[in-house]
Amino acid sequence: MSAKLLVISGSSGVGKGTVIKSLLEKCPDLNLSISCTTRNPRPGEKDGINYFFISREEFKKGIENNDFLEWAEFSGNLYGTRESYINDCLNQNKNVLLEIETQGALQVKAKMPEAVLIFIAPPSLEELEARLRGRHTETEEAIQKRLEFVKLEIENSKQYDYVVINDAVENAVNQILKIIGV
Ligand code: 5GP
Repeated sequence: MSAKLLVISGSSGVGKGTVIKSLLEKCPDLNLSISCTTRNPRPGEKDGINYFFISREEFKKGIENNDFLEWAEFSGNLYGTRESYINDCLNQNKNVLLEIETQGALQVKAKMPEAVLIFIAPPSLEELEARLRGRHTETEEAIQKRLEFVKLEIENSKQYDYVVINDAVENAVNQILKIIGV
Protein backbone atom coordinates (compact mmCIF):
# COMPACT_ATOMS: atom_id res chain seq x y z
CA MET A 1 0.00 0.00 0.00
CA SER A 2 1.31 3.46 -0.79
CA ALA A 3 2.04 5.98 1.95
CA LYS A 4 -0.64 8.43 2.96
CA LEU A 5 -0.48 12.21 3.01
CA LEU A 6 -2.81 13.41 5.72
CA VAL A 7 -3.67 17.08 6.21
CA ILE A 8 -5.44 18.23 9.35
CA SER A 9 -6.77 21.74 9.92
CA GLY A 10 -8.96 23.26 12.56
CA SER A 11 -9.59 26.67 13.98
CA SER A 12 -7.95 27.75 17.17
CA GLY A 13 -9.96 26.79 20.21
CA VAL A 14 -11.22 23.50 18.77
CA GLY A 15 -8.65 21.41 20.63
CA LYS A 16 -6.79 20.46 17.46
CA GLY A 17 -3.48 20.20 19.31
CA THR A 18 -4.82 17.65 21.78
CA VAL A 19 -6.39 15.57 19.01
CA ILE A 20 -3.15 15.54 17.01
CA LYS A 21 -1.05 14.65 20.06
CA SER A 22 -3.27 11.66 20.81
CA LEU A 23 -3.30 10.64 17.13
CA LEU A 24 0.51 10.66 16.97
CA GLU A 25 0.71 8.54 20.13
CA LYS A 26 -1.64 5.99 18.61
CA CYS A 27 0.05 6.00 15.19
CA PRO A 28 3.82 5.92 15.70
CA ASP A 29 4.34 5.46 11.95
CA LEU A 30 2.79 8.86 11.22
CA ASN A 31 5.50 11.47 10.58
CA LEU A 32 4.56 15.01 11.56
CA SER A 33 5.88 17.57 9.10
CA ILE A 34 7.72 20.45 10.76
CA SER A 35 6.77 23.72 9.08
CA CYS A 36 8.81 26.83 8.49
CA THR A 37 7.51 30.06 9.98
CA THR A 38 8.56 33.66 10.30
CA ARG A 39 6.83 34.09 13.66
CA ASN A 40 8.87 34.25 16.85
CA PRO A 41 9.13 31.13 19.01
CA ARG A 42 6.78 31.07 21.99
CA PRO A 43 8.24 30.18 25.40
CA GLY A 44 9.25 26.52 25.38
CA GLU A 45 9.22 26.17 21.58
CA LYS A 46 12.39 24.88 19.96
CA ASP A 47 13.80 25.43 16.49
CA GLY A 48 13.66 22.24 14.43
CA ILE A 49 11.14 20.66 16.80
CA ASN A 50 8.04 22.85 16.81
CA TYR A 51 8.95 24.81 13.69
CA PHE A 52 11.93 25.90 11.69
CA PHE A 53 11.97 29.54 12.75
CA ILE A 54 13.35 31.53 9.82
CA SER A 55 13.52 35.18 8.76
CA ARG A 56 11.13 36.72 6.26
CA GLU A 57 14.03 37.05 3.79
CA GLU A 58 14.85 33.36 4.07
CA PHE A 59 11.18 32.49 3.64
CA LYS A 60 10.91 34.70 0.52
CA LYS A 61 14.00 32.98 -0.89
CA GLY A 62 12.31 29.63 -0.23
CA ILE A 63 9.24 30.78 -2.18
CA GLU A 64 11.44 31.89 -5.11
CA ASN A 65 13.26 28.55 -5.08
CA ASN A 66 9.97 26.64 -5.08
CA ASP A 67 10.95 24.98 -1.80
CA PHE A 68 7.39 25.00 -0.47
CA LEU A 69 4.65 22.56 -1.29
CA GLU A 70 2.32 25.20 0.11
CA TRP A 71 2.59 28.41 2.10
CA ALA A 72 0.24 31.00 3.55
CA GLU A 73 0.17 34.18 5.57
CA PHE A 74 -1.59 33.82 8.91
CA SER A 75 -1.90 36.57 11.51
CA GLY A 76 0.86 38.58 9.84
CA ASN A 77 3.36 35.69 9.68
CA LEU A 78 4.34 33.32 6.91
CA TYR A 79 4.01 29.55 7.31
CA GLY A 80 5.05 26.88 4.82
CA THR A 81 5.65 23.17 4.27
CA ARG A 82 8.94 22.11 2.68
CA GLU A 83 8.21 19.96 -0.33
CA SER A 84 11.45 17.96 -0.01
CA TYR A 85 10.47 16.57 3.41
CA ILE A 86 7.06 15.46 2.15
CA ASN A 87 8.51 13.85 -0.97
CA ASP A 88 11.26 12.11 1.03
CA CYS A 89 8.68 10.60 3.38
CA LEU A 90 6.36 9.47 0.60
CA ASN A 91 9.25 8.04 -1.45
CA GLN A 92 10.31 6.03 1.61
CA ASN A 93 6.71 4.84 1.94
CA LYS A 94 6.25 6.74 5.21
CA ASN A 95 2.89 8.30 6.13
CA VAL A 96 3.00 12.05 6.66
CA LEU A 97 0.79 14.39 8.66
CA LEU A 98 0.54 18.11 7.98
CA GLU A 99 -1.06 20.34 10.59
CA ILE A 100 -1.75 23.49 8.60
CA GLU A 101 -4.45 26.10 8.05
CA THR A 102 -7.05 25.84 5.30
CA GLN A 103 -5.55 28.05 2.56
CA GLY A 104 -2.40 25.91 2.56
CA ALA A 105 -4.39 22.67 2.79
CA LEU A 106 -6.31 23.55 -0.37
CA GLN A 107 -3.00 24.25 -2.17
CA VAL A 108 -1.81 20.76 -1.15
CA LYS A 109 -5.03 19.21 -2.46
CA ALA A 110 -4.66 21.04 -5.78
CA LYS A 111 -1.09 19.73 -6.22
CA MET A 112 -1.59 16.29 -4.69
CA PRO A 113 -5.22 15.18 -5.07
CA GLU A 114 -4.44 11.94 -3.23
CA ALA A 115 -3.94 13.95 0.00
CA VAL A 116 -6.67 13.32 2.57
CA LEU A 117 -7.96 16.59 4.06
CA ILE A 118 -9.59 16.46 7.49
CA PHE A 119 -11.11 19.50 9.17
CA ILE A 120 -11.62 19.45 12.91
CA ALA A 121 -14.68 21.53 13.64
CA PRO A 122 -16.12 22.84 16.88
CA PRO A 123 -19.51 21.35 17.90
CA SER A 124 -20.96 24.80 17.17
CA LEU A 125 -19.83 28.39 16.74
CA GLU A 126 -21.51 29.26 20.05
CA GLU A 127 -19.51 26.60 21.82
CA LEU A 128 -16.28 27.79 20.21
CA GLU A 129 -17.03 31.37 21.24
CA ALA A 130 -17.57 30.16 24.81
CA ARG A 131 -14.26 28.26 24.73
CA LEU A 132 -12.36 31.29 23.42
CA ARG A 133 -13.91 33.53 26.06
CA GLY A 134 -13.19 30.92 28.73
CA ARG A 135 -9.47 31.33 28.12
CA HIS A 136 -9.67 34.94 29.37
CA THR A 137 -6.53 35.72 27.41
CA GLU A 138 -7.85 37.94 24.66
CA THR A 139 -9.62 41.24 24.12
CA GLU A 140 -13.16 41.35 22.74
CA GLU A 141 -11.78 42.69 19.45
CA ALA A 142 -9.32 39.81 19.15
CA ILE A 143 -12.08 37.29 19.88
CA GLN A 144 -14.32 38.82 17.19
CA LYS A 145 -11.42 38.72 14.70
CA ARG A 146 -10.80 35.06 15.47
CA LEU A 147 -14.47 34.21 15.05
CA GLU A 148 -14.56 35.90 11.63
CA PHE A 149 -11.55 33.83 10.64
CA VAL A 150 -13.18 30.66 11.94
CA LYS A 151 -16.16 31.33 9.66
CA LEU A 152 -13.79 31.61 6.69
CA GLU A 153 -12.10 28.35 7.66
CA ILE A 154 -15.45 26.60 7.98
CA GLU A 155 -16.29 27.89 4.48
CA ASN A 156 -12.99 26.47 3.14
CA SER A 157 -13.63 23.17 4.92
CA LYS A 158 -16.49 22.50 2.48
CA GLN A 159 -13.75 21.45 0.06
CA TYR A 160 -12.25 18.98 2.55
CA ASP A 161 -12.66 15.21 2.32
CA TYR A 162 -13.85 14.88 5.92
CA VAL A 163 -15.13 17.10 8.71
CA VAL A 164 -14.71 15.68 12.21
CA ILE A 165 -16.65 17.34 15.00
CA ASN A 166 -14.56 17.62 18.13
CA ASP A 167 -17.27 17.08 20.73
CA ALA A 168 -14.86 14.89 22.71
CA VAL A 169 -11.18 14.25 21.95
CA GLU A 170 -11.53 10.47 22.14
CA ASN A 171 -14.39 10.50 19.58
CA ALA A 172 -12.53 12.80 17.21
CA VAL A 173 -9.37 10.66 17.37
CA ASN A 174 -11.34 7.46 16.77
CA GLN A 175 -13.05 8.97 13.75
CA ILE A 176 -9.69 10.01 12.29
CA LEU A 177 -8.23 6.54 12.93
CA LYS A 178 -11.16 5.08 11.01
CA ILE A 179 -10.64 7.51 8.12
CA ILE A 180 -6.96 6.60 7.79
CA GLY A 181 -7.74 2.93 8.21
CA VAL A 182 -5.96 2.20 11.48
P1 5GP B 1 0.68 28.85 15.39
O1 5GP B 1 1.38 30.14 15.11
O2 5GP B 1 -0.40 29.01 16.42
O3 5GP B 1 1.63 27.73 15.69
O4 5GP B 1 -0.07 28.42 14.04
C1 5GP B 1 -0.97 29.28 13.43
C2 5GP B 1 -1.65 28.57 12.27
O5 5GP B 1 -0.71 28.26 11.25
C3 5GP B 1 -2.33 27.25 12.65
O6 5GP B 1 -3.63 27.25 12.09
C4 5GP B 1 -1.46 26.20 11.99
O7 5GP B 1 -2.23 25.09 11.60
C5 5GP B 1 -0.98 26.96 10.78
N1 5GP B 1 0.27 26.40 10.20
C6 5GP B 1 1.32 25.86 10.84
N2 5GP B 1 2.25 25.45 9.96
C7 5GP B 1 1.75 25.74 8.73
C8 5GP B 1 2.24 25.55 7.39
O8 5GP B 1 3.31 25.01 7.13
N3 5GP B 1 1.45 25.99 6.38
C9 5GP B 1 0.24 26.59 6.59
N4 5GP B 1 -0.47 26.94 5.52
N5 5GP B 1 -0.25 26.77 7.83
C10 5GP B 1 0.50 26.36 8.88
